[in-house]
Amino acid sequence: MNRKRLIAGNWKMNGSEADARALARGIAAGINGETDVLICPPFPYLSIVKAALQSLQVTLGAQNVSQQANGAYTGEVSAAMLSDLGCSYVIVGHSERRQLYGEDSALVSDKARVVAAADMRPIICIGETLEEREGGQTRQVIETQLAAVFAHPAADYGELVLAYEPVWAIGTGKTASPEQAQEVHAFVRELLGGWDAAVAERCRILYGGSVKADNAANIFAMEDVDGGLVGGASLQTESFVAIANAV
Ligand code: PEP
Repeated sequence: MNRKRLIAGNWKMNGSEADARALARGIAAGINGETDVLICPPFPYLSIVKAALQSLQVTLGAQNVSQQANGAYTGEVSAAMLSDLGCSYVIVGHSERRQLYGEDSALVSDKARVVAAADMRPIICIGETLEEREGGQTRQVIETQLAAVFAHPAADYGELVLAYEPVWAIGTGKTASPEQAQEVHAFVRELLGGWDAAVAERCRILYGGSVKADNAANIFAMEDVDGGLVGGASLQTESFVAIANAV
């Protein structure tokens, strides 16, 4: 199946209002339009970035969401609010959320379904730590993380996107080889097939972990790699545009 590639930039908690505006404008002007391009700024800059995007070819996403609909949840942001601000995608279960904020796979599944219910697309992040990889547990970790997703019907997740992000490759400059990425992506697709065959065919599985302009094309060339989730290199117009245009 021909899945359209998606390149997503996760800006994390970086930059100023002026940086956000300039980066959004630079990306919108630089991309060649042959792939889906998504940028996920910090919450306070969503509206600013939305206004700065002159190209409809760049879509807007958020980095996190509350699993709650509304009410007395100080500091939280709901899916309805993100949808109101023009978001089309929301990243859930990033390893930083799992490791630093104790988010477990059941909560990640709840968040993903709340995103889909608000007519946006969840990007669920999965991936193993270095210790788990060296202990030969990569498949088991991925399977456990996805079991919480598969505990609910596929229809509850809408147009689900997965991001395989080996934790040892995030922000470290170490990237999985194209073959290592392909091996896990193929395994993820096989697991998806046991849940819902149609979803396995159409679900985009992104790779994340130190994707840079000089390694992107080789990783994206792999059969089951349908694009990338990019952290550090998404903070510079030139590098992110080069990655997006490498597809
Ligand atoms: C990420 O945080 O999702 C990520 C992939 O970061 P980096 O590209 O900096 O490794």
